[in-house]
Amino acid sequence: MTRLLVTGGAGFIGSHFARLLAVSADVTVLDKLTYAGDRANLAGVRHAFSHGDICDPALLDEVVPGHDLVVNFAAESHVDRSIDGAADFVRTNVLGTQTLLDACLRHGVRKVVQVSTDEVYGSIDLGSWNEEAPLQPRSPYAASKAGGDLIARAYAITHGLDVSITRCGNNYGPGQYPEKLIPLFVTNLLRDRKVPLYGDGGNVRDWVHVEDHCAAIRLVAEVGGPGEVYNIAGTTELTNKELTGRLLEATGRGWDKVEHVADRKGHDRRYSLDDGKLRALGYRPQVPFDQGLKDTVRWYAEHRERWA
Ligand code: NAD
Repeated sequence: MTRLLVTGGAGFIGSHFARLLAVSADVTVLDKLTYAGDRANLAGVRHAFSHGDICDPALLDEVVPGHDLVVNFAAESHVDRSIDGAADFVRTNVLGTQTLLDACLRHGVRKVVQVSTDEVYGSIDLGSWNEEAPLQPRSPYAASKAGGDLIARAYAITHGLDVSITRCGNNYGPGQYPEKLIPLFVTNLLRDRKVPLYGDGGNVRDWVHVEDHCAAIRLVAEVGGPGEVYNIAGTTELTNKELTGRLLEATGRGWDKVEHVADRKGHDRRYSLDDGKLRALGYRPQVPFDQGLKDTVRWYAEHRERWA
């Protein structure tokens, strides 16, 4: 049985990944439990838990040995927080990634997946990026993730570490900390509060259900090549305004609940990925957006104790 270490596994996506793999692997979760980490996300998942920081090499020397596969989700992940202060982002997303990769090398881990984001490419008005597109990050968050990606690629080339990198679009689904658009808007609307729509609402995002993202990462862990990058696209591109309309409809609220606020500094206009490389390996997103969104709204409505 594969022995899997999921770093950042108490967060939104990492916990879904741990849940997916726990049926076929021995799972250890290592998580610092920042504001975004919550062990409740792992309820019912068979796993061992280690509380700590991926920047701590001594802790990694205790936790990493014996694992065949390490998947790194640990990150500071919210763009707005990176605008307020970038230090934690650089520390965890760059130094933490490098510290973890060193530990994987020291302890002979067979396969590593570095989980990254489409935001490393910057912003694109038309068309889609493939994996050869230049990295032109525009927020401190995206720049720190690009730093982690490049360190991972360098470890594959320089040290022969078998590490693959995934870059995914915006995720949605149950259990996301309510600061990003979908969970923030849903939890505000369920409480009959207003929601803040940035700028003209015309920013476009490609939405990926968290379970599709996790299935794609599992595929990359199985067949991804060393130093290779794999884009993971979703099913539905929407402007934030269109998405807001769907969330209002799903919660039975009107446009009077929408407050137009000043745009985010440096706000990326559009992300769009070409994921042909991963599709050639068999990846297909399975969750239709309308169904996934409906189920997500219902999850927040039924789990008020997790966010209220
Ligand atoms: P999240 O913020 O919900 O979870 C991050 C987890 O990492 C938390 O449990 C936190 O406690 C933990 N963590 C933070 N710093 C740590 C450290 N130094 N050591 C150990 N644990 C630490 O994030 P998420 O949305 O689940 O994202 C997971 C990964 O996926 C991130 O790397 C992110 O960049 C990437 N990603 C996210 C999205 C998205 O839409 N959310 C899209 C593409 C890629």
